[in-house]
Amino acid sequence: MVAYKQRWTVGVLVQEVDKALQQTYRQSLKEVVQDLTLRHAFRSAHPSNTEILRTLYETGVLRMSGSSATGRLHAALGRFTRRAVGTCVRCGGSIEMRQLGTNAGTRLCAQCQRQHSKPA
Ligand SMILES: [Zn+2]
Repeated sequence: MVAYKQRWTVGVLVQEVDKALQQTYRQSLKEVVQDLTLRHAFRSAHPSNTEILRTLYETGVLRMSGSSATGRLHAALGRFTRRAVGTCVRCGGSIEMRQLGTNAGTRLCAQCQRQHSKPA
């Protein structure tokens, strides 16, 4: 189940990163990956999506634009890299896949999100 969720999240993250790169740098993820390959950033000749996402996090490419949307995506990549995507940062509970589908950068489970958005 956990492995499935991890695989599923990779697809969502790849799509979101591709979208963000095109909006921010007018470059597709494929072009960025080609560029990184030329710079020998990957350990293998044909990096997996997981390695691509991890390398993008390590190079901080999404943080460079200074926009909050790509900053959040960068943070999501960081959590993915630590294999923590799908885990609530507040209670450690698991985040529903439906929630991750709407926003792969979700950091709180539904219950904590409700508590968080409740007026004090
Ligand atoms: Zn929670």
